Amino acid sequence: MPESKGLSELHWLLAIVQSIDVGVVVLDREYRIDVWNTFMENRSGRLPEEARKKTFFELFPEVDEQWFRRKVENVATLGTPSFTIWEQRPYLLRFKNYQPITGLEDFMYQNTTLMPLKGLSGNIEQICLIIYDVTDVATNRQQLQAANKELQRLSSTDRLTGLFNRGHWEEMLRQEYARHRRYDRNAALVMFDIDHFKKINDTYGHQAGDAVIQATAELIRQSIRDADVAGRYGGEEFVVLLPDTDNGGAVTFAERLRRSIEAHEVAYEGQRIRFTVSLGIADLSQPTSGYAQLIERADNALYKSKSSGRNKVSLYQ
Ligand code: GH3
Ligand code: MG
Ligand code: MG
Repeated sequence: MPESKGLSELHWLLAIVQSIDVGVVVLDREYRIDVWNTFMENRSGRLPEEARKKTFFELFPEVDEQWFRRKVENVATLGTPSFTIWEQRPYLLRFKNYQPITGLEDFMYQNTTLMPLKGLSGNIEQICLIIYDVTDVATNRQQLQAANKELQRLSSTDRLTGLFNRGHWEEMLRQEYARHRRYDRNAALVMFDIDHFKKINDTYGHQAGDAVIQATAELIRQSIRDADVAGRYGGEEFVVLLPDTDNGGAVTFAERLRRSIEAHEVAYEGQRIRFTVSLGIADLSQPTSGYAQLIERADNALYKSKSSGRNKVSLYQ
């Protein structure tokens, strides 16, 4: 190949390296900078002359030196490239994200490649570091994940109370029942219904009725532990699943909840509304054919509370 062709090829190769929209850095084996393209100049704010006088670690004190050295030494020893992706490490060099999207990080997400470069002797004398700006991909992915999470939350909760809706609550019960089957763990179900709720609606209006339902949900939230699963089962019917709890523990819980509701006063547009609930309990200490039967039994006990005067707790026998 004639010398002039080689030189002109080198010339346009350099022009390409300069103008591409990825960072190209060539380091010698002492971590001094030999090549520094325009991307690097623009994003770091350091001119090539300035960069060439320094080592990589002087220029970028944010880089975990021990980790980066180990990575580079591996590339040089094995003679094979190595990669990092933003999911593992959001960035190697902290560059500003010049198109910040509100609410998201203001740095540039990066994927990087480290490539061994052989000299004329055939030895690896330099390492090429390539930096890709993947901010768009990363932020899109994160926004999608956040949207999915919100969608999941919306589809599993009841609008009025913020408790789980019936569908999601039943799914949680199904899972707890499967654990019971596998590990023989007990669980109790408390089901309850507001007493004479039609009268509350008729006397104070539907909106006031809604406020009573919301107040009930809040009192439930204040009574339960993290592991307990509370749901709105129907209009003014609620369910609380108590994992690792037997009838005795559930009675204690239900009595506490019953008393706190009895003592509570809902203030709605100058009116003071008092109300009570009737509760029913069943647990998994008796043989059951499935989780639906547990609901049936708790509902049975709830009916007992209703028919024997309301504002009380009954156990399924
Ligand atoms: P009981 O003591 O036997 O439970 O009497 P009750 O009046 O509560 O009887 P029932 O459970 O049959 O009545 C429930 C009423 O709740 C009927 C329905 O109009 C009303 N309701 C259902 N969902 C809502 C809601 O989201 N908001 C309001 N305000 N009322 C609702
Ligand atoms: Mg009712
Ligand atoms: Mg009802």
